[in-house]
Amino acid sequence: MQLDAQDVDAADVAVIGAGPAGLAAAAAAAEQGLSVALLDEQAHPGGQIYRDVTRAGADRLQVLGNDYAAGRALVERFAQSAARHVGGAAVWNVTRDRVIHYLKDGRSRSIAASQIILCTGAMERPFPIPGWTLPGVMTAGAAQILLKSAGIAPSQPAVLAGCGPLLYLLAWQYLRAGVRIAAIVDTTQRGDYLRALRHIAGALAGWRDVKKGLGLIRSIRSAGIPFYRGATELAVEGGERATALCFRVGAASHRIPTDLVLLHQGVVPNNQITASLRLPHHWDEPQLCWLPQADAWGRLALDGFLIAGDGRGIAGGAAAALQGQLAGLAAAHDAGRLSELKRDRQAKPLRSALRRQLHIRPFLDTLYRPKIEHRVPADDVIACRCEEVSAGELRRMVALGCTGPSQTKAFSRCGMGPCQGRLCGLTVTEVIAQARGVSPAEVGHYRIRPPLKPIQLQELAAL
Ligand SMILES: Cc1cc2nc3c(=O)[nH]c(=O)nc-3n(C[C@H](O)[C@H](O)[C@H](O)COP(=O)(O)OP(=O)(O)OC[C@H]3O[C@@H](n4cnc5c(N)ncnc54)[C@H](O)[C@@H]3O)c2cc1C
Repeated sequence: MQLDAQDVDAADVAVIGAGPAGLAAAAAAAEQGLSVALLDEQAHPGGQIYRDVTRAGADRLQVLGNDYAAGRALVERFAQSAARHVGGAAVWNVTRDRVIHYLKDGRSRSIAASQIILCTGAMERPFPIPGWTLPGVMTAGAAQILLKSAGIAPSQPAVLAGCGPLLYLLAWQYLRAGVRIAAIVDTTQRGDYLRALRHIAGALAGWRDVKKGLGLIRSIRSAGIPFYRGATELAVEGGERATALCFRVGAASHRIPTDLVLLHQGVVPNNQITASLRLPHHWDEPQLCWLPQADAWGRLALDGFLIAGDGRGIAGGAAAALQGQLAGLAAAHDAGRLSELKRDRQAKPLRSALRRQLHIRPFLDTLYRPKIEHRVPADDVIACRCEEVSAGELRRMVALGCTGPSQTKAFSRCGMGPCQGRLCGLTVTEVIAQARGVSPAEVGHYRIRPPLKPIQLQELAAL
């Protein structure tokens, strides 16, 4: 691996995203003799799950656990390959004829590739409840990024609220880091457990993950942290900043004073690039998000484009690495470097391992399905944080005849701020769907246009 290559302007394969999917895809393609460039806006390889794993010292590895440290092997395999790493490269545009524009060191640069493998992973699902935009409220994932990348943990007691494996993982990591947790407010209901039981066969097939998850929850509970199960009607209270988290459990109302609330209700594919390329997506009801159409190798509906990892559907880090390898093999075959026979032979054990990883998904997706009241907010709650557009304004626009996100965007600027609809996209679609009484599939998603990342005129001028 050539670390931090500066002037890569062409490659057989360009991979965007250096998480498990991208690392595995880049290594697999480079191992077949293709020239490969791996771009990521993070300076160092690892993605979300293994963020900064190669730079973490013994203390941080001890806090973050063995599953985190395991990411080193993946980075090592990539480092052994001839693929080039372009760190600190924020991709702001990808054209249909396979030119990638990215920002690095204050300049916009470009790279042309014969094939592009998109491995942009996941981002946290928005959690639009009253008070979610107050200072003192963050996502659990953002808090974990601080822990992984800088060893920063809160000095005051935090309240963790929502559902999903990342919430429990952060609680477990905080306990190991000596952080005080005031309470865990879990939105999983008894009914979710019952519904998830229908998928118990899959959960048993993925028993290692279940065991790990139960282990996390056991250590959290044995640490004596107040644990509220089945919480509803979450709202952050505060004026200038958060002062308390309020919620109900059954008929009882609760109020926990705190100035740090960490929210999380799962992750969703980061599909800004596939959307900006106008590739077909469908609404996936089990995961409540948009998924791009791709074949079993990850080939998208546009020649020369492939996808792997959480960006094609949430499946976790191990599945992402397997999908990455499959996409790398497919790219090598499509480039004429690997015969069909060899490709299929190498893919066979990967496919079996991938099937094993996917068994548990229906169980997890059902158990941690985020509640509609925490996805489709009340009128006075902000839906688009960048442009401060409330759910009520969206509903008023629907009443005036707006049928989809691109129309509400034109009328209110929602989705036109620095994140370009990445954060509010799902909320806006679901608010409109509910107001119109139709499915999100019928409402559709924002029409995404570049720049996907904020870019200054001087950076553009340097092209
Ligand atoms: C904040 C967060 C923390 C998580 N932590 C954990 C965890 O600790 N354990 C766990 O099991 N799972 C975790 N997950 C879930 C985890 O992301 C995935 O299961 C796994 O990392 C998916 O791997 P991936 O390769 O598909 O994508 P990721 O690991 O998400 O990697 C995607 C990469 O693409 C890059 N990228 C995206 N867009 C661009 C762009 N426009 N330009 C340049 N680069 C770009 C990102 O910087 C990132 O490095 C986390 C998810 C999130 C959102």
